[in-house]
Amino acid sequence: MRTKIAVGAGLAVAAWLLPYGLDSYAIHVVNVILIFAVLAVGLGLCMGVAGQVNLAQVAFFGVGAYATAILTTHNGLGFWVSGALALVATVLIGLVVGTPALRVQSHYLGIVTLGLALAFTNWVTNAQLSGGAEGISAIPVPTLPGVDLSSEYLYYYLELIVFVLALAFGLFVVRTGLGRRLRAMRDDSLAAGALGAEVPLLRMTAFLLASVYGGVAGVLYAGLIRYVAPESFGIANMFLLLGMVIIGGRQSLIGCVVGAVSLYLVREWLADHPTIAQLAYGAVVVLVVVFAPTGLAGLPERLRDLLRRRRGESGTAARLAPFRPYAERAGQTSGTGTPILTVSAVTMRFRGLKALDEVSLTVAPGEIRGVVGPNGSGKTTLFNVISGLYRPTGGRVEFLGRDLTGSSPYRLARAGMSRTFQNLRLFGDLTVEENILVALDRSRTLGAWRYLLGPIAVLRQDRELHRRARDVLDRYGLTEFAALAPKSLPYGIQRRVEIARAVAAAPSLLLLDEPAAGLNGEEVRQLSEIVRSIRDSGVTVIIIEHNMGLVMSLCERITVLAGGRIIAEGEPAEVARTPAVIEAYLGDSMDSDDLPSIPEVTK
Ligand code: ADP
Ligand code: MG
Repeated sequence: MRTKIAVGAGLAVAAWLLPYGLDSYAIHVVNVILIFAVLAVGLGLCMGVAGQVNLAQVAFFGVGAYATAILTTHNGLGFWVSGALALVATVLIGLVVGTPALRVQSHYLGIVTLGLALAFTNWVTNAQLSGGAEGISAIPVPTLPGVDLSSEYLYYYLELIVFVLALAFGLFVVRTGLGRRLRAMRDDSLAAGALGAEVPLLRMTAFLLASVYGGVAGVLYAGLIRYVAPESFGIANMFLLLGMVIIGGRQSLIGCVVGAVSLYLVREWLADHPTIAQLAYGAVVVLVVVFAPTGLAGLPERLRDLLRRRRGESGTAARLAPFRPYAERAGQTSGTGTPILTVSAVTMRFRGLKALDEVSLTVAPGEIRGVVGPNGSGKTTLFNVISGLYRPTGGRVEFLGRDLTGSSPYRLARAGMSRTFQNLRLFGDLTVEENILVALDRSRTLGAWRYLLGPIAVLRQDRELHRRARDVLDRYGLTEFAALAPKSLPYGIQRRVEIARAVAAAPSLLLLDEPAAGLNGEEVRQLSEIVRSIRDSGVTVIIIEHNMGLVMSLCERITVLAGGRIIAEGEPAEVARTPAVIEAYLGDSMDSDDLPSIPEVTK
């Protein structure tokens, strides 16, 4: 902490003194670099942090600059009024560019945003309002009482302040709830949705953030150069910007700044050889993507990892600390009352295949329900329909008395449903603690305005979330893994993290898809204890499992699926005796006399 403050203070002094050592050309270069740095931070937020491919950043930049130019020269408005209006215009364009992101993904999004960027350059090159190919000159000097901003030395300080604020705001977003949700969405949008993250709105937010940064950079540019022309906002600069973000490290905003500074200096250095320059940063970008996908910012960590592996240190000597049970909730009405979940005649068809065929089941609050069946019998598909990942071809799903058939996963999550996945879907680039934090955080994306108007409240809420996350980690015996990436952990621990995360979302119904797969005997015993405790704390649990011992001892009722149909349902002992189950599930090589392989029901 103290070194951080020292480094920060050192940088501040250096930044303040910088102009004293520079000639008039050098200060101009520095001023342009600061503008690119603001742009790169915005692009880093959208592409690196939120994972939304955005090739329209240069168009946001252009809209900000052109709108300022047009409003000052054509409409005779003052510079700052024009700047503010230009920012509004950029955000509106951000909304337009972000709209396709609600529907299309990754590569397609790249093409769509590139198309919009091209459309912008085309428009400014041809329209009369924007001065055609000549552009617009004679933009007035921004006025500031007592400061002559026509001096590039003084303009530097204006830019420095804006840049520091922009970077600080970006870091603030990344390190608190909104940023965590954006990163979670980037790592696994499906799992993020299942935890209540409003994925479409978050994508839109990413584009809006990028557009604000683009707009701010555009206004600064108009005030600095006082002349705008189409080529400043064309594809060449878009790729330069992309290079800055990729080389610096797209997931680290500081990395984006480092990338902006270094790549711009390389461009200056090679200014007399534009073809070589283009090839050079093309080559550097390719090398970085291949050999250091996390960019310059990710290098120290990769080196540390490499050294650790050289020394033969294994990740963690994993012994899970014991689970600390939840307080039992008094007055549990196990198995009675109105159903928490009613599935009525649900059919799910994948082209020719009927994965679910008129499946109906009712789960009472406080129950632990087992769902068993051979591989491919439709168990996971049933969970996917219940949790909103699939819209069923027919039938209805009622949750807590409301018909929520076909609702989006995040709506269901917010209504109180939570799940784990058969093939683990942890957020890989978030720490274990952050995985839990994403689930704990129930704030709405529409509440993101608080980042501008009430940052202190945001920070306070985040501190409270961290406290609760530490509680969860402690309860699940995960404290020592809090700061680690999930993928560095053994399978059994990852499974437990996923359960802890699902429960952290405070569900009333928890769906567990094969939680014992890949666990050893002791881990299965602990799992059984955990699930029972979760139920005792008032959560209804549906568990898909192949481990018959676990299902038989844990569940009050069992539903048996085969070929997409329910072939039996009832208490464990009763179900185990059903001939259809013995035939379908245990295979006909086994008859009921062999059933002792299913342990005694211990409840
Ligand atoms: P289980 O979880 O019981 O092993 P699943 O629900 O995963 O079974 O699968 C049931 C059937 O549905 C399988 O035949 C599987 O191939 C098919 N299926 C599941 N999801 C899809 C999908 N998205 N597209 C096509 N077929 C699918
Ligand atoms: Mg399955």
